[in-house]
Amino acid sequence: MIISISGTPGVGKTTIARILAKRLGYEYVSLKDFALRHGIGEMVEELEIDVEKLVKATKREFEDRNVVFDGHLSHLIPSDLVIILRLHPRIIGERLLRREYSKKKVSENVEAELVDVCLIEAIENNENIIEVDTTDKTPEEVVGEILKLMKAGVKRRIGIVDWSEVYDDVIPYLDLGGE
Ligand code: ADP
Ligand code: MG
Repeated sequence: MIISISGTPGVGKTTIARILAKRLGYEYVSLKDFALRHGIGEMVEELEIDVEKLVKATKREFEDRNVVFDGHLSHLIPSDLVIILRLHPRIIGERLLRREYSKKKVSENVEAELVDVCLIEAIENNENIIEVDTTDKTPEEVVGEILKLMKAGVKRRIGIVDWSEVYDDVIPYLDLGGE
């Protein structure tokens, strides 16, 4: 079984994927490390991953294994289940500033969370998608929620957040252009 944990940078993918893999007894695989190890993608300002090559390489290597993939492109990898983590975009902004991302990168990612970029891409690629709102939840609570849904046989649960309701809160993080 292949489970992919995706979402906007800073949402908690690495934290959640590691705990989930441990709880399930699955392998934890960082897609970024996998891509670097296999020479997939190149450094152009930041790592640009060739998704087509990544899909082929992961298929070859992991087809019959039990794996939890961690990465913001993991929803593009053939998976039995895609988990899209969601988080109030203001907290995404706070976490990425703490990570010393540039203002431009912070605004790009806050906006991506605001308008559901990962979810929409996931929907174009997979039927089995579970969205989890991690806002105000501990990592253990998030993993508990995922395991409970999996146990109940839930294969699709989407449309659970609407960040347009909190738009005013995130304006300071957005690059709205103009003068
Ligand atoms: P990603 O891999 O999606 O970029 P990380 O797992 O690295 O995100 O998490 C980003 C930061 O947020 C880390 O400092 C992590 O400890 C923290 N974090 C992750 N999940 C939670 C949570 N549910 N509650 C509080 N802090 C969290
Ligand atoms: Mg990470």
